[in-house]
Amino acid sequence: MEQEIHITLRYDLAIGDVNLNEIIYRLNELKNLLMLRVTEKIVQDYDDIITERLSRTDIFPSKARRGLGRHIRKGNPERRFCRGRKVRKRGYRKDSRKMSTVFGDLSVAIREVECGTCSARYSPVLDALKIGRYARKEMNFEHEVIEAVIDTNYRRLIDGRSIDISLGGIHNIVVGSDIDETFQEPVAIKDLSAIMADGTGVKQQQGRKGELRAVIGITKGGCVEPLGSFTNTEWPEIECIIKERIKEAEPYNIPFIYDGEPGLDDFLSEVAELQRCTWHGPRGLYHALWEDGLKKKQSKPETDKIKQLIGIELPEGDFEILKEEDKEQVRSKYETSKFEIKELIQTFREKGYKHGTSYLENLSNRLFTNIELWLKTGVIAPKTTSLLERLFREIGRRLKRIAWGWSDKAVTNISKMIMIRQYSRDKWEKYWKEKLGIKGYFNIEILVVS
Ligand SMILES: [Zn+2]
Repeated sequence: MEQEIHITLRYDLAIGDVNLNEIIYRLNELKNLLMLRVTEKIVQDYDDIITERLSRTDIFPSKARRGLGRHIRKGNPERRFCRGRKVRKRGYRKDSRKMSTVFGDLSVAIREVECGTCSARYSPVLDALKIGRYARKEMNFEHEVIEAVIDTNYRRLIDGRSIDISLGGIHNIVVGSDIDETFQEPVAIKDLSAIMADGTGVKQQQGRKGELRAVIGITKGGCVEPLGSFTNTEWPEIECIIKERIKEAEPYNIPFIYDGEPGLDDFLSEVAELQRCTWHGPRGLYHALWEDGLKKKQSKPETDKIKQLIGIELPEGDFEILKEEDKEQVRSKYETSKFEIKELIQTFREKGYKHGTSYLENLSNRLFTNIELWLKTGVIAPKTTSLLERLFREIGRRLKRIAWGWSDKAVTNISKMIMIRQYSRDKWEKYWKEKLGIKGYFNIEILVVS
């Protein structure tokens, strides 16, 4: 049904003095307010149309009332819907309806009607607009708040828009999100080239220290597939949940990479092949040599050497899929490193560095397995946990700035959102479009500006 809105704006302009910047500046200030007023007008017009159709059954056929006037039958304990569609107008509700929107706080006077069948009093426009009885914000607003939290610039969202939302309000939006029930579709393990898990400490309510844990998959194409994010959940429980998502008939033995986090030694052992990160090799070697009685000055050349030898497997990016044509180069570097590390082990043994020798033997075993696996699968494993480290850093920053004192559920939800938005952008956008219910039922255009 086509409707028109007429807008009259008045402006005052200092001839010979005004510049374009000031004009734009003032218009920019006006734009949210204007949209608020337009929203208000559209809601009121819609309210009038609906009420007219429900009250004037002498003019409008029942077809014109399709989808309108749904209400709970008065005094029905089972809360059944009433079949009555004829109403009497009963003026406006005492309080106008207030909603937080992306344009600012909306306040509209809403009509009330009385059902001719059951005499229940209700406001038909609310059901028509799909606003719950107690909803105080629309979904675009929720969307913007969440995006702002993810971008850590939520202050900018609020400033200049007369939006009134407290930190507690943001917390409630995040807690109330259905992100927990979505993004649960099974992941095919045959499409993954590795699984990673790690944890980090987070500050929570009353300075309580919590533990945030995340599990991600790396697809064969080199993309991140978030598998789960958890707050204060034990690893065995996380394992059960992840296993649910990657149901598979046969084991694939894809590498499972972690950074020595306790409790992960048998994680997903039926589907994945354990791989400890070798990133901390130099630090570990320094410690082992210190146990052998070496001072830092003495051990430094050795740890530097190890850094260099491990360096062959550390690419520029966080993770990378090895191209077929690069494999030969890696293979030859690997052979050289392997030889040099073996020599170093021999030297350590001769010098009597007991701890250093066994540490290096251990490390080299892992290192060589990693590279062999890398050459086999094409997935660079060692530095991969830094991908999770960066994710945790980002989550940590947000928790520190806006989410201190957040509950487990809020921390879990926000970290899920950060992961999904960052790594599955298209899924994130689809999720919001579905939530907002954008189906082409409302279109608006500018007709005349004169
Ligand atoms: Zn009724």
